[in-house]
Amino acid sequence: MTTSADFIALDERWSTHNYHPLPVVIAEAEGAWVTDVEGRRYLDFLSGYSALNFGHRHPALVAAAAEQLGRVTLTSRAFHHDQLGLFCRELAELTGTDMVLPMNSGAEAVESALKVARKWAYEVKGIPDGTAEIVVAGSNFHGRTTTIVSFSTDETARSHFGPFTPGFVVVKYGDAAALRDAITERTAAVLLEPVQGEAGVVVPPAGYLAEARRLCDEAGVLLIADEIQSGLARTGKLLALDHEGVRADLYTLGKALGGGIMPLSAVVGRRDVLGVLKPGEHGSTFGGNPLACAVGRAVIRLLSTGEFQERSTRLGEHLRERLTALIGQGVAEVRARGLWAGVDLTPGGLSGREASEALAAKGVLCKETHGNTLRIAPPLVISEADLDRGLDAIAEVIRR
Ligand SMILES: *Cc1c(COP(=O)(O)O)cnc(C)c1O
Repeated sequence: MTTSADFIALDERWSTHNYHPLPVVIAEAEGAWVTDVEGRRYLDFLSGYSALNFGHRHPALVAAAAEQLGRVTLTSRAFHHDQLGLFCRELAELTGTDMVLPMNSGAEAVESALKVARKWAYEVKGIPDGTAEIVVAGSNFHGRTTTIVSFSTDETARSHFGPFTPGFVVVKYGDAAALRDAITERTAAVLLEPVQGEAGVVVPPAGYLAEARRLCDEAGVLLIADEIQSGLARTGKLLALDHEGVRADLYTLGKALGGGIMPLSAVVGRRDVLGVLKPGEHGSTFGGNPLACAVGRAVIRLLSTGEFQERSTRLGEHLRERLTALIGQGVAEVRARGLWAGVDLTPGGLSGREASEALAAKGVLCKETHGNTLRIAPPLVISEADLDRGLDAIAEVIRR
């Protein structure tokens, strides 16, 4: 049992087929590089959908995890432990928010924000019980739970998973007038991704997010920013909303918050909103566990220097320049923010899947999203030379 084909056959036989991975079997990883079971090396240009913003096995994160493994890993929330309060204070201070609700997966953070927003709407805003609405954007991606796919516009994500949770209104992303028209006296919150990652790194028109903030203020509605993929330095700022000078009432964070080591997510935001939760009303066995909190604290230390935000901005400019130069040569459009890009391949040329497979053969791992778009998100620790190496491979594969 040594070849990639053997391991792929095992997955095919024993694991559900809810993914269609590239035929690469990773055995080891460090920084921006991974190595497969046959010893071939690849540059990671996906970074676990931004869960690996600090690369694989960042020494400071591995050290924090190892140290905590030698102390205590899990207590449940039945007892206090010495990492939770520090993690929450440090994350609140980093993000300029009042308090933190720790969870595990991104979907759980989004679910938690939706529950909190509804409770706030009934208990604080005074909307009649059971009637609150939450406005969301088309082409959203917020996770895979039944409630979250209830307001997905991706038929593949929804089909045969109903009946669905009511209370959501979908409007076109980037259209401020549509958002204005959708807000009523029953609206509890507006939930948006500041940049839609899964949709192909879609950046909304300038002014859209500020206008969303203004409309929410005017109507006394919560603005919830899902920064699970866009946050934590991926776009060159701590939070993607910072590009617009906009503050949300609640943010959902995840992915990179766990440093690529632990699942760790959180809702962070206003005390008068998160404060509606009382003992017994919401929770998670693993949420805020000592091991995850210790890793999260090390992530916060990395982010507090600004080094990764700066790298993302600087390397991101280079990424954008080199990808934009391919427009008309196999590339139809490029959208980029920080070290994060959506590259639409020219219709009739290589499909996203074919391009990803050809890139893997050249030692660069990335993945298509929605057919003809490549999502490119190298770890923020990547060197400029390695970034160029990956971009050379991309140019070779898609230039026609
Ligand atoms: C990945 C993602 C989620 C869901 O996170 P999981 O950890 O996979 O549940 C939610 N929102 C956004 C914007 C994401 O990118």
